[in-house]
Amino acid sequence: MSKVRVRFAPSPTGGLHLGGVRTVLYNYLFARHHGGEFILRIEDTDQNRYVEGAEQYIVDCLQWCGLIPDESPQKGGPYAPYRQSERKNLYHQYAKQLIDSGHAYYAFDTTEDLEKMRNDLKRADNTNPQYDHSTRMKMRNSLSLPASDVKDLLANNIPYVIRIKIPESTTLIFTDMIRGEISFDTNLVDDKVLLKADGMPTYHLAVVVDDYLMKISHAFRGEEWLPSAPVHILLWEYLGWKHHMPEWAHLPLILKPDGNGKLSKRDGDRLGFPVFAMNWTDPRTNETASGFREMGFMPQAFVNMLAMLGWNAGTEQELFSIEELIHKFSIERVHKGGAKFDFEKGKWFNHQYIQQTDDTTLTQLAKPYIEAEGINVNNDHLLKIVSLIKDRCHLLSDFWQQGHFFFATPHDFDINPIKEKWNDVKQQFFTSWIASLNDAKDWNYGIIEQNFNTQLEISGLKKGDVLLPLRIMLVGGKYGPGVFLISEIIGKEETILRVNNVLAKLSVL
Ligand code: GLU
Repeated sequence: MSKVRVRFAPSPTGGLHLGGVRTVLYNYLFARHHGGEFILRIEDTDQNRYVEGAEQYIVDCLQWCGLIPDESPQKGGPYAPYRQSERKNLYHQYAKQLIDSGHAYYAFDTTEDLEKMRNDLKRADNTNPQYDHSTRMKMRNSLSLPASDVKDLLANNIPYVIRIKIPESTTLIFTDMIRGEISFDTNLVDDKVLLKADGMPTYHLAVVVDDYLMKISHAFRGEEWLPSAPVHILLWEYLGWKHHMPEWAHLPLILKPDGNGKLSKRDGDRLGFPVFAMNWTDPRTNETASGFREMGFMPQAFVNMLAMLGWNAGTEQELFSIEELIHKFSIERVHKGGAKFDFEKGKWFNHQYIQQTDDTTLTQLAKPYIEAEGINVNNDHLLKIVSLIKDRCHLLSDFWQQGHFFFATPHDFDINPIKEKWNDVKQQFFTSWIASLNDAKDWNYGIIEQNFNTQLEISGLKKGDVLLPLRIMLVGGKYGPGVFLISEIIGKEETILRVNNVLAKLSVL
């Protein structure tokens, strides 16, 4: 195999969908597995779709995931520039070459001309007439017009685009690394624009020219690009580079958890999970779409989850470090069919990574979620809490959900589960217990529990009668780690305060 060089070639148009990150990941794993290079190329030739900040956002996402390119607009490299808008002038010569060899032509049609053609030709059996072999001779282009007219139009700087001349009734075949042999009937392919009136190449021309110039050996991209493949195959051939065409792998879609079709941002909104790697704020609307990072995913877990969405090692193993993934990854084991996204499974991955992470590191990761609630917490204190509740946390943000009562007195107490069975004996038990706590010299969960047991014996109650009430007093609800540990950490005064708070509520019932 020649030197492996792969590229992720996003258009900077918005947030990075998890399918996009998976494409990055498979590129990265393949490159690392084969000791090759992974390139980031920004495909920003469509000025209408360009969104400010989207490129930096993509770079930041890759950074967060730890999938760092070897060559990129930021890093440079031997084939710079890596931003297509900066390569603008380079594409003309290839478009010209295609015209000279008769594989492309100038088209002078205005928007109105194109609309008219579509309206004139629209029929029940052809609802979307295309600019192709059947229509091109009815249009204003260098194939249909006399050569002298074309010369004049060009001399007068009349705006034009350059279109590829797709051959009629030809079958094009290529072998996809995942899907095997795929064939296309060229009669179904339109004469795509290669160079636009503004002088910018379209994606089709730019992707082929750059994959060639950047010596790309394998191109992995989403399945949605499959219909473009015949245009690209022809361009590789017409430009004389047929033997340099990368091997292609069209990656399966990530599907909605329910129903069919590609997982969209709307599905995420509807079902309550993110589809972007990180929060993305659209500068045009100021709307923020949520991201896995901010939701509390660890990048290692996110990456592991994505690896398994469309690939497996051929065993039951699901948890892989990035090194293991690099070692085991093979494109042959990528599935043909789409993978249904399962957010609960994603959380399971994150839970596993949280359990594997040492408590000191986890403390640093959990801290921002506590601070975001306006709480200042010291590291040693947080470390204790983190080790106590980590097994209950699926997301880093759960450290707040599962541990907020360590940092702030709860205001909402769900007393419903205990109020029915509340009585004077229990009221008396808690009153005496906190009085005894008040006198306690030392403060640790052993002593707290001992006091509790002593009062139990005096009251004649069973532990089961008062443990749940105590939990609700300290936490506000039916969750959290051991109650005596909670009491130790929040301290004597806070324990007494919280018990009193709920006693006051219960005694007025
Ligand atoms: N620029 C295309 C995109 O936005 C890249 C497709 C490809 O990798 O060829 O996804």
